[in-house]
Amino acid sequence: MVGDVPIGGGAPVAVQTMTKTETANLTATIEQIATVAAAGADIVRVAVPREADVAVLPQIIDASPIPVIADIHFNYTLALKAIDAGAHCVRINPGNIGGHDKTAKVVDHAKASGTPLRIGVNSGSLPEHLRALEFESPVEALVAAAVEWVVLMERLDFTNFKVSMKSTSVPNTIASNRMLAQRIPYPLHLGITEAGTKWSGSIKSAVGLGTLLADGIGDTIRISLSTFHAEEEVKVAWEILKALKLRERGPVLIACPTCGRLQFDMDSVVAEVERRLEAYDDPIEVSILGCAVNGIGEARHADFGITGAKDMGMIYSKGEPLKKVPTERLVEELFAEIDRYYAAGRNVVRDESKAAEARAWLAEHEDESELTPERLAALEAAGADADVAAEIDETESPVAGRRFSRAG
Ligand code: SF4
Repeated sequence: MVGDVPIGGGAPVAVQTMTKTETANLTATIEQIATVAAAGADIVRVAVPREADVAVLPQIIDASPIPVIADIHFNYTLALKAIDAGAHCVRINPGNIGGHDKTAKVVDHAKASGTPLRIGVNSGSLPEHLRALEFESPVEALVAAAVEWVVLMERLDFTNFKVSMKSTSVPNTIASNRMLAQRIPYPLHLGITEAGTKWSGSIKSAVGLGTLLADGIGDTIRISLSTFHAEEEVKVAWEILKALKLRERGPVLIACPTCGRLQFDMDSVVAEVERRLEAYDDPIEVSILGCAVNGIGEARHADFGITGAKDMGMIYSKGEPLKKVPTERLVEELFAEIDRYYAAGRNVVRDESKAAEARAWLAEHEDESELTPERLAALEAAGADADVAAEIDETESPVAGRRFSRAG
C-alpha cells in the first residue's frame, strides 16, 4: 500500500507522476499536485534533494489529495527524515545511497514505521562489479542488480517494497522487466527514463510500457516527459491503460483518419469534442466520422457519434440516427444529446420524426460502392480470415482423422 493505494497483487495499475516544481516551493508544489490529482494521478512523487525540501514534506503530505512519495538519491539521512515526515513511500536507489550499511539504516527505519520503499535500479548507476556484465549484456546486468537488492532486502527481513529498473532503451526496458518478473514476486514500477518530448516520449512509453502491461507485467507506471506540465504525463498514462482496457477513466474518443472524401473541418471538430469531453467522467464512447459514405459502419457500437458532410451532418447513437444538423452546429448538438442522455438517467432520448429525417439524409449520402479506408480494411480482414480458414482446412490430419479448429 502506498497510502491508500494498493500496488500489485492484482490491484489496478496505479498511475504516478512526479512534480516538476522545486519541492520547497510549497505553493507551486501543492498547486501542481492538485492539478495532477485532478488529471487522474493515483500517486505523486516529489524530489527531495535538499533539507529545505524534506522540511516542507509534512505540509505537502497534509495538503495532497493523493499519497506522496519522496524521491531520494545519494543522501540517506534525507530518506530517514522523509520517513519521519510521513512520506507514504520513499524511493531510493541503493546503488547511489552510499553502500549497504546506509541502505540497511533506511530499511530499518522504514520497517519500524511501516513505510514502503521503492527500490530503484538505473542503467546509469549499476554497481562496479556488474560493469563487465553490463558491457556484454545490459539487460542481464540490470536484472542482476535488481535481484541483488531484492536479496539484500530479504536478508534485512524487509518485503514492503516494489522494484523499478530504468533504462533509456525501450527494448532493454521490455526485456529486463520480463526477465525480472519471472524472478521476483514483488510489484514492479514501470517507466522509461528520459523518454523525451511529449510526442516522442509518449510513443516510446506507449510501446515500452504498453508491451509489458499487455503481458500482465507492471503494477504502477510513470510516463516521463520533458514538459513542465506533469498532468500531461498522467493523461498519457491513462491513454495507455485505457487502450489496453486495463482501466477506465472518462470518455473514449474515436475518430476516422480522414481522407479525400472529407468535406468539413474535422480537425477543429475533433479538437473541440476532445476538449469538451474532458468535463465528463463517464467512460462513454464518442465517434467522429469524416463523411457518411460508410454509413455509421464501424462506429455502430459508439454511445454517440457524428458524421459530417459539406453543409449538413448527422448525430447518431448506438448505430441509430438521432438527427441531422447544420455542420457548424454538430459539436453543440452532439453535447446537447449527451447531456440529454445523462439528464434522462443514461437513456438515449429519441425524437422519431427527427430520426427519420436523419435516416433519409444518411441513405442519400451512403455509398456502398465506394472503396473507403474502412471498407478496404474490412476486405483485408475478411481476406485474412479466409486464409486462416483455408490453412485450417489443410491441417486436417489424414492419420488421426482429426480437424484442428481455430479454438483448438
Ligand atoms: S471515407 Fe472513412 S476515412 Fe475517409 S472521411 Fe469518410 S469516414 Fe473518414
